[in-house]
Amino acid sequence: MPLIALLPGDGIGPEVIAEAVRVLDAAGCALDFQQAAVGGAAYRESGHPLPETTLDLARRADAILFGAVGDPACDTLERRLRPEQAILGLRRELALFANLRPAKLFAELADASALRPEVAAEIDLVIVRELNGDVYFGEKGMRTTPAGRRQGYDVMAYDEDEVARIARVGFETAMARGRTLCSVDKANVLETSQLWRDVVTEIASEYPQVALSHMYVDNAAMQLVRNPGQFDVIVTGNLFGDILSDQASMCAGSIGMLPSASLDSAGKGLYEPIHGSAPDIAGQGKANPLATILSAAMMLRYSLGRAEEADRIEAAVAAALAGGARTPDLGGTLSTSQMGDAVIEALA
Ligand code: NAD
Repeated sequence: MPLIALLPGDGIGPEVIAEAVRVLDAAGCALDFQQAAVGGAAYRESGHPLPETTLDLARRADAILFGAVGDPACDTLERRLRPEQAILGLRRELALFANLRPAKLFAELADASALRPEVAAEIDLVIVRELNGDVYFGEKGMRTTPAGRRQGYDVMAYDEDEVARIARVGFETAMARGRTLCSVDKANVLETSQLWRDVVTEIASEYPQVALSHMYVDNAAMQLVRNPGQFDVIVTGNLFGDILSDQASMCAGSIGMLPSASLDSAGKGLYEPIHGSAPDIAGQGKANPLATILSAAMMLRYSLGRAEEADRIEAAVAAALAGGARTPDLGGTLSTSQMGDAVIEALA
């Protein structure tokens, strides 16, 4: 039976994770769940946001289902002890280099999109973002120019192996969907992007069934709001992916609806909603659990090879929404556990 590390974390994390586990159980997914503290909860228990026991469980597990971390009471701690360091530590220690964020608008929620309903209805895409490189990890610092002015700098760099690795994730993701991949870069200006484009083009020969196109990032930002339906899978670097994935998520509606996966090179992954610990609504039963339930479905699909169970859960979420189930963020009155009930009823 696959071992799943459950890391609920802080704030609404435990509330939404509980619903995802109920749905997985109701769907008959035989999984061995083991739970460990992470974030502020772990800091209070053991003095560290990512204790060795939690990391050890995450290493042994076949996949990790993560809630959220973040606790205002920890905001004055030194940076290495803050809850948010746990997620960065897990990405680093487990070499999770590929971030997958689907953006799909459930038809029933067309009004929640920042776009016109007829444009938003077309959104069904996945952004594959590289997580371990780019300008965030290059040499950086502050210095003084010869003219005596302060200057900040951050070096953007990718080597060809890093690009090839994420490109393959992009092609594989496209193979499992509509076989169309758009690689986003800024090759008209950046050397890093020129290498990116060259390497992605080379890797394309391994995937003759996938139609590859290239797009400059400024155009991609525009096309995402103008005609998002043209995209199937987008692959891009860390910086561009950071921005485009947030943009795409707002096109697709509430933050409480959006799942994500972070994968290593063997397909092991950490699955989490894109939202944080939402301290403003924690403990009130107001959190929308669907992003976490959909993250659990991604886990079945990408790390456990159980696409049919994933399809069933996603269909149950759509059916619950079609039946009118809405938490407060979607304009309704259902509590977190009532939304879980609605999905479980739809599964049946
Ligand atoms: P947030 O995502 O927690 O909340 C933003 C807003 O969205 C809030 O009004 C919140 O109530 C609402 N919201 C979020 N998730 C919701 C859900 N499932 N259902 C209904 N409403 C929901 O972002 P924030 O307020 O900027 O950050 C709060 C804490 O979370 C901070 O400590 C931050 O560092 C942390 N954070 C953690 C992660 C993570 O664990 N990966 C991600 C983002 C933020």
